[in-house]
Amino acid sequence: MNEDQLLYEGKAKSVFRTSVPGELKVIFRDDITAFNGEKKDTLAGKGEYNARVSAFFFQYLEKNGIPTHFIRMEDERTMVVKELTMIPLEVIARNVAAGSIVKKFPFTEGQLIEPPVIVTDYKSDEHGDPSINDDLILALGFLSADGLRDVREMTLKINKLLKDFFAEAGIQLVDFKIEFGRSGDTIYLGDEISMDSMRLWDEKTGESLDKDVYRFGKGDVLSAYGKVVDKILQTL
Ligand code: AMP
Repeated sequence: MNEDQLLYEGKAKSVFRTSVPGELKVIFRDDITAFNGEKKDTLAGKGEYNARVSAFFFQYLEKNGIPTHFIRMEDERTMVVKELTMIPLEVIARNVAAGSIVKKFPFTEGQLIEPPVIVTDYKSDEHGDPSINDDLILALGFLSADGLRDVREMTLKINKLLKDFFAEAGIQLVDFKIEFGRSGDTIYLGDEISMDSMRLWDEKTGESLDKDVYRFGKGDVLSAYGKVVDKILQTL
């Protein structure tokens, strides 16, 4: 009998409480959604691809000094993680202009952003994930001044590590979204790092290898996600 208790059902992951205090289980489902759930499908194998990539990067980042919630994989789509109190922010690092930043500001698609920029959204479906700035984050008590600094430093370090890793694999890391949480006094990287939350372009062909393939009907999503998994495995 599965005694795990469902805590939270997101758009592509389900989170369960286990019998072990301080540990949760995250199941990466095969569901894929875009435009705040307006577009929705199930693609057999997608959950496993994202789980494998997330597990790989959590371990890679841990080795490089970033605290993450990753504990171990239980099966190919079930990740055991440390329970965190999540901070309701989506922290986005951008190396190349694409997506919403091109709509909102006078960047051209594909323009290099050097040094990279970090932008932050308040994670709230009810409020429509609006942009938020440091003053608002402090006023709302989401982070202290020290916490803000730590999140910024960690995000820049994660960006450099991921960008260099992908460059070796012939992939350009355009941007990505991460989320953090707290346990005690420590801020950990939580959530996931997958093709659902990054923008990745093949360096040779410019082809998208991420959720934009699904968002904009650019081709076979699973084969794009599979290419990232293969390229990661080749660099090991
Ligand atoms: P955008 O602001 O739509 O250009 O997205 C910037 C980056 O963050 C892209 O890599 C998106 O895939 C990712 N991203 C933005 N919002 C979300 C979200 N709610 N869930 C997962 N990834 C997101």
